[in-house]
Amino acid sequence: MTQDLVIVGAGVTGLTAAIEAAEHGRRVTVVEAHSRPGGRARSLPEPFRANLGPHAVYVDGPWWAWLASRGLTPPVVAAPSGGSLVRTEGRLRPWPAELGRAAAALSAEAPVDEPFRGWLLRHVDASTAEAIVGLTFIFTFDHDPGRLSAAFVHQRLRRALAGGARYVTGGWSTLVDLLAERATDLGVRIDTGTRVSAVPAGPAILATSLATARQLTGDRELTWPGARVVTIDLGLEADGGPDWFRVLDLDDRIYAARYSLADPSLAPPGQELVQIAAACAPAERKADAEHRVERLLDQSWPGWRERVRWHRSALRTDCTGALDLPGTTWHDRPAVGRGDTLAVATDQSAAPGLLAEVAIAAAHRALERLGVVSRDQLAGRS
Ligand SMILES: Cc1cc2nc3c(=O)[nH]c(=O)nc-3n(C[C@H](O)[C@H](O)[C@H](O)COP(=O)(O)OP(=O)(O)OC[C@H]3O[C@@H](n4cnc5c(N)ncnc54)[C@H](O)[C@@H]3O)c2cc1C
Repeated sequence: MTQDLVIVGAGVTGLTAAIEAAEHGRRVTVVEAHSRPGGRARSLPEPFRANLGPHAVYVDGPWWAWLASRGLTPPVVAAPSGGSLVRTEGRLRPWPAELGRAAAALSAEAPVDEPFRGWLLRHVDASTAEAIVGLTFIFTFDHDPGRLSAAFVHQRLRRALAGGARYVTGGWSTLVDLLAERATDLGVRIDTGTRVSAVPAGPAILATSLATARQLTGDRELTWPGARVVTIDLGLEADGGPDWFRVLDLDDRIYAARYSLADPSLAPPGQELVQIAAACAPAERKADAEHRVERLLDQSWPGWRERVRWHRSALRTDCTGALDLPGTTWHDRPAVGRGDTLAVATDQSAAPGLLAEVAIAAAHRALERLGVVSRDQLAGRS
């Protein structure tokens, strides 16, 4: 053991960084405000094991490779084949294969400086362009992904089309438990129920949201665009129901999935778990977004209201990762290194990747900046 390292936040980022640092002989303490580790990646306990944040883990990405090299990959399931609907121009229809084909046929590179919609319109007709913009809500969570940098959205679209998205069996807490257990085995101390109110002295990584890092440091440069989204979780009686697994509202930017059809452990016998994300424009009220979701369910699932046994909803701001506006890339986001002894590793930091992968990549950069690992070591070990 050569040097102490304090990590604020026991989300997946803080835990990943702690494991890597401990593997390199550092004595690590992770300080976590909540009573349990996991942060946004926690799932609720039974009966409905709803994920608080992420659903998709990308098995074609660098974090998965990092997990695999340590035997830390959780069991996963794919979305059931078929059973996907879209709502477009007010009508429900089966997932249009031609939409995927049109998106896949786009040229390999998209410009950083141009909005995604404008660039699309130079390649496809207006209604296909609008449908592709709607599709990209799934992994941007933005109310209008057409306004974002074409390069940013297009890179994510290519990742999504590659088909690497899987769901963690038992919810993301399964993965969090694996990480926390490995960290503890390596001697990492995880202090839960302890809220940090100032930046720790000495080598430290803030593995929180960017907003929390801004509050803790008082550094107003720690800011970047993010999305506003309403999440709705429903526990329903599983008596019949429609024949879709998921429905994506391309007009209204809503994504609803019956996750317990893919993983029955998420709901008690005879019930099912549905989780929904709805874009919320800057001026839109939460209740109005909820009404849009209800309209979609009325159309796609007659009788759903009578089956509801449990529900919860929340408005989430800046919780779903970074959004790059035209003219910006991940390189322009707030830098990870903040002096010799402090690093900030968030999913809105200057690091590449998709959603949570950004924060993990930022954590690896943080370890490099603090001299815990070298660039060669990182490159050699996924
Ligand atoms: C609705 C939704 C859907 C999403 N979908 C996906 C998806 O499908 N795939 C994907 O990859 N990503 C997805 N994401 C993004 C993903 O959840 C995050 O990128 C990821 O969980 C970030 O993890 P983290 O460890 O960096 O931060 P967090 O999970 O926010 O962890 C930070 C931790 O720091 C703790 N903390 C904060 N302040 C303090 C303090 N002062 N003292 C001590 N501890 C503190 C918090 O309690 C928390 O545990 C989604 C997010 C949301 C909200």
